[in-house]
Amino acid sequence: MKISRIDHLGIGVESIDAVLPYYENVLGLKCYAVEEVADQKVKTAFLKVGEVKLELLEPTSPDSTIAKWLEKGGKGVHHVAYAVEDGVAEALVECEGKEIKLIDKAPRKGAENMMIGFLHPKCTAGILTELCEPAK
Ligand code: ZN
Repeated sequence: MKISRIDHLGIGVESIDAVLPYYENVLGLKCYAVEEVADQKVKTAFLKVGEVKLELLEPTSPDSTIAKWLEKGGKGVHHVAYAVEDGVAEALVECEGKEIKLIDKAPRKGAENMMIGFLHPKCTAGILTELCEPAK
């Protein structure tokens, strides 16, 4: 697979409203989009840091993955997302061939009109890893 850059860092938070003043008023970043991703039961807020984005993830339901992660003591960076240039579907197949456990067997739709696929942190040096590309 060909990774061109880090697309974003996913950051799990209890409340986007509670943390935005830090990112905006202290770091001087700007939130340019807020979007709810219904099937992942999260509200997302995006900020740009040069080419890289921060994706703040707030659970919208107690059974969302992020809610469970926070409940288990998760804090801060939840995942790293890499932009792949030659397709998420192909990259997932390649990873599976290299014995990487997949969370998503096929790409699915994420926030910001991206196709995404997650690799299991057990096989990625402990970091939940997302591969993404713009949806066609
Ligand atoms: Zn993400």
